[in-house]
Amino acid sequence: MAASAASFFHGLPDAVYIIDPETSRIIDGNEKAHASLGLSRDQLLHESVMSLQTGVQGMPAWSEIAEVIRNQAPYRFLGEHRHADGSAIPVEILTSVQHVDGREYFVSVAREIPERGSSPDEDAGREHWQVLYDIAEGVWDWYPQQERLVFSPNLKSLLGYGPDEMEEVIDTWKENVHPEDRPLVLTKLEDHLAGRRPAFHAEYRLRNRNGHYLWVSDRGRIVLRDDHGKPLRVCGMIHDVTDAKTLELSLQQRADYCSLTSLYNRRRGQELFEKAFTACEHEDRPLALLALDLDEFKTINDRHGHQAGDTVLERFGECIRESLPEHAIAMRWGGEEFMIALPGADPVRAEDFAETLRAAVAGARWPEPLNRSRVTVSIGAALFPRDAGAPGQLIAVADQALYRAKHDGRNRVILARPA
Ligand code: GH3
Ligand code: MG
Ligand code: MG
Repeated sequence: MAASAASFFHGLPDAVYIIDPETSRIIDGNEKAHASLGLSRDQLLHESVMSLQTGVQGMPAWSEIAEVIRNQAPYRFLGEHRHADGSAIPVEILTSVQHVDGREYFVSVAREIPERGSSPDEDAGREHWQVLYDIAEGVWDWYPQQERLVFSPNLKSLLGYGPDEMEEVIDTWKENVHPEDRPLVLTKLEDHLAGRRPAFHAEYRLRNRNGHYLWVSDRGRIVLRDDHGKPLRVCGMIHDVTDAKTLELSLQQRADYCSLTSLYNRRRGQELFEKAFTACEHEDRPLALLALDLDEFKTINDRHGHQAGDTVLERFGECIRESLPEHAIAMRWGGEEFMIALPGADPVRAEDFAETLRAAVAGARWPEPLNRSRVTVSIGAALFPRDAGAPGQLIAVADQALYRAKHDGRNRVILARPA
């Protein structure tokens, strides 16, 4: 590929580079490529995208860009090439992906962007920006060195403000980012400003005027730097993705929770239990596991109907959620069987918790048609590290204790016998 490419691209007026996608190394380039950088051909072959592009720093950044190129080829990029004399040349680069003899290559064609500043061009640029400003959902324009952040009228209206409201400073935006999302969003912005990421992109919650949060997707990048390479202007756009995000979260919710009891389903619950188990093992902390099974549940269904049975399961889920300590993991194991993991709980705390829950269920009032019928639960408890050394074993031991609770007359808590 390299030999034939060199001759093929030799006379082209634009700089052509053949790049190794793995390392970003320049495998080949035409005359225009090395001449425009002030290098000899041999010198060019010692360079890479990382050494030539001022905005691409480090392997992780390159890998990220390479992935984008693969997905979006031909990929257009506005960047700066480092000239041998130390100056930076603004270039527009179009990169495509080629496969030759089973090997992948990136082919980049770079065209120098003429010096800006001539008034007709600038006017055209301003006009384009104005159009975006007017029609796009939420454009912002940040001048970090002047501490000025301009919000487009549409962005203000998205957040419920009039065109003359919202003070044009970065804090106006920061203060409206959800406190839980703020650290990550600011880190991503910092990463871009410091050159660790080619662009800024974050999904986060942004507060609107009446205190509700919108989910937004926010993308931006540095468009102008000063002579020292410090950002002068950063432009970006915000999209309201609340509907898509709400759907995504509700699907996530459905995948992880039992809709009847609002407890974790078995798959997610077991995953979290095993994680908690490993953490306790590392931290030398105990962990208690309770196995719960509603008593004579078949009879409830038979007497009052399946619907009434469902109501009991629903209320039982509520009882558990109301009494659950922080960091505990409660799951519906299947049918009328449940598991609760209590990280950090010793035998006394585990028994206390189980006994309180048992008594709450036994004393609960139930809606029509159950009324005064008695609903009770049997609970078996096992303890790590006392009774078992692995999650599966602990489940088995808790199950055996539950079996004994049933055998001994139901509506009781039985702790596993220490081995
Ligand atoms: P025991 O005290 O020995 O546990 O008796 P039991 O009747 O509770 O035991 P068994 O396991 O035989 O019966 C469990 C019943 O739970 C059978 C099944 O019809 C019922 N069940 C399982 N899932 C649901 C559900 O989602 N809704 C309703 N209404 N019933 C369910
Ligand atoms: Mg059962
Ligand atoms: Mg049962």
